[in-house]
Amino acid sequence: MKILVQKFGGTSVENAEKMRRAAKRAIEAAKKGFGVVIVASARGQQTDVLVADAYELNPNPPKREMDQLLSTGEIQSVSLLAMALDSMGYKAISFTGAQIRMLTDSVHTKARIKSIDAERIHKQLNEGKIVVVAGFQGIDENENITTLGRGGSDTTAVALAAALGAKECEIYTDVDGVYTSDPRIFKKAVKLDQISYDEMLEMASLGAGVMHPRAVEFGKKYDVTIHVRSSSEQVDGTLIIHEVPQMEGLLVSGATIQKDLAKIGLLGIENVPGNAAKVFAHLAKHKVVVNDIIQTEVNPDKANLSFMINVSDLESAKQAIEEIKNEVNFENIFIREDIAEVSVVGVGMRTHYGVAEKMFGALADAKVNIDSITTSEIRISCAVDKDQAEKALEAVCMAFELDRPAKLRNKNS
Ligand code: ASP
Ligand code: MG
Repeated sequence: MKILVQKFGGTSVENAEKMRRAAKRAIEAAKKGFGVVIVASARGQQTDVLVADAYELNPNPPKREMDQLLSTGEIQSVSLLAMALDSMGYKAISFTGAQIRMLTDSVHTKARIKSIDAERIHKQLNEGKIVVVAGFQGIDENENITTLGRGGSDTTAVALAAALGAKECEIYTDVDGVYTSDPRIFKKAVKLDQISYDEMLEMASLGAGVMHPRAVEFGKKYDVTIHVRSSSEQVDGTLIIHEVPQMEGLLVSGATIQKDLAKIGLLGIENVPGNAAKVFAHLAKHKVVVNDIIQTEVNPDKANLSFMINVSDLESAKQAIEEIKNEVNFENIFIREDIAEVSVVGVGMRTHYGVAEKMFGALADAKVNIDSITTSEIRISCAVDKDQAEKALEAVCMAFELDRPAKLRNKNS
């Protein structure tokens, strides 16, 4: 039997009507002969509601209990979906993560999947049932409930698809696919027909919050095509797949913007072994996530070291640096709290020249000053003034024709 996994996000199951619509999707696939496995998120904002409940009672809720609590949101969704399917004349059965032995490590609130017992699901599918599995949750070796981190139902779905040998995992959501850029900012953004796993991972880490990054990693590793599509409209969405030659023909697949960044620079830091290690060890101790680290030597004795963080981590970062100030001996510190970062992403960069030139040129024409530049093999990012962030994104999108479907762009755009 060919198996299809369909994942429905919170907004796609938020009320009875939407639940029925999700159930209909599953039935359509079952009628086509698929063994259908649904993975569901908690309904609407239910997870946020549960988090708020927890903090009302305890400003520092134990993580084990947090997982126990949050897992209930998804359990509501799956039992209700099974009831909806039953009322439509279809046999269905719901499972919690624990019931299908979705085994994870014990890192509460951000556990990682280790293995899944696909047997129980296969057995139910063979009996002709639609199987509905609670997303986002698992169980550790000591039978504690764990969760996979916010947005983790995507990962449940793709991991299940891999474990069940399904070739495709459909992600039903309130947008109809992955766009060339954030349509709320760049209004002319268009839907992508396809994007590679690597590009999607870069875009996700840059704040294009379409997919949980772990889910994309699973898809890549286990060869599962991920189809991001609309739960309300019957149109094809975006396929996340392995790189195909056609993708290389494009310079850039998408552009993103990250706001709310801050930059810290340590100027004239002593140029000796171990100093960078000390700085970042302290930042890690204060749980500050760091990006775009740049160090350059000024002379044999001194270097400049800068990095970006989320503005919300600024106080922790300042404290971390205060603590090691006297050990690493820098001359000056500068802090900018008003930074945004515009990035372009595309596997075509590996084989084309001129991408950097085009991006910097577009920013220059728009009179946007570039604070710093960082790159990966398939990404170029420019830090700019927060006030100019929108203008910068627009300029870059237009330069790479991200307002047009790939096949309509000029060659070399
Ligand atoms: N319900 C969880 C959350 O809101 C997991 C998910 O939706 O994927 O983060
Ligand atoms: Mg989500």
